Amino acid sequence: MSLLGIPFDENSSYLRGAAQAPPRIVEALFCESSNLWTENGTDLQGRVRDWGSLALPSDTPAAFSAIEREVARQLRPDVRLILLGGDHSITYPVVKAFAAKFPDLEILHFDAHPDLYDQLGGNRFSHACPFARVMEEKLARRLVQVGIRTMSRHQREQAQRFGVEVLEMKDLGHWPALNFRGPVYLSFDIDVLDPAFVPGISHWEPGGLSVREVVNLLHSVRASLVGADLVEYNPVRDPSGRTAMVCAKVVKEIAAGLLGG
Ligand code: MN
Ligand code: MN
Repeated sequence: MSLLGIPFDENSSYLRGAAQAPPRIVEALFCESSNLWTENGTDLQGRVRDWGSLALPSDTPAAFSAIEREVARQLRPDVRLILLGGDHSITYPVVKAFAAKFPDLEILHFDAHPDLYDQLGGNRFSHACPFARVMEEKLARRLVQVGIRTMSRHQREQAQRFGVEVLEMKDLGHWPALNFRGPVYLSFDIDVLDPAFVPGISHWEPGGLSVREVVNLLHSVRASLVGADLVEYNPVRDPSGRTAMVCAKVVKEIAAGLLGG
């Protein structure tokens, strides 16, 4: 299990700060206030390798090329990679690298937001757009979005156009099981959680999932996970480090899934 930081928030539409997230999440993960056992009994002690963070230019095309290249270089059959963002724009170059290795890739996406805008403020690489790019370029055979509660008319049209399966918060309790056939990339935007649990995020969108609900959902996923990211943690809004601990918990449970536990 390898962790790689992608400290990039140039495409955040509202607040900067997510670029500072990776070392804070790693610090929380190894914090002695908890241990490295997951709830289902996987011991991650000695099985998590932190590769630190990429050094990236501020220019988006150059940074995206570097991200895609570095992720592709790290992706070997024996490596299970979790990318730590950064804002959600980084998922597009990351998925490009995964799609090159896994042609039948399916994506499971946790988020308050569909991130399907064709462009936002003239920026097609905005953190509000990555899944529009992914689906346009057919980098994934299937996209399942969980926890959505900010669907706009444009994004609903985009979801229909791309055949996205959207599990909206308003329908909680009536969602289908999270079953997948092909290799699955898990993209986890921490703002899928209710801001009551994660104040350290840029976009406080009330009405989200609890930590308990998220962990149970992760345990319920039936899929062959091949990689994951955790994005949009904003340490600027988390002076106490409480949200970092939630990120670390989610990373642990995702890691167990990646290791087959
Ligand atoms: Mn997002
Ligand atoms: Mn979001």
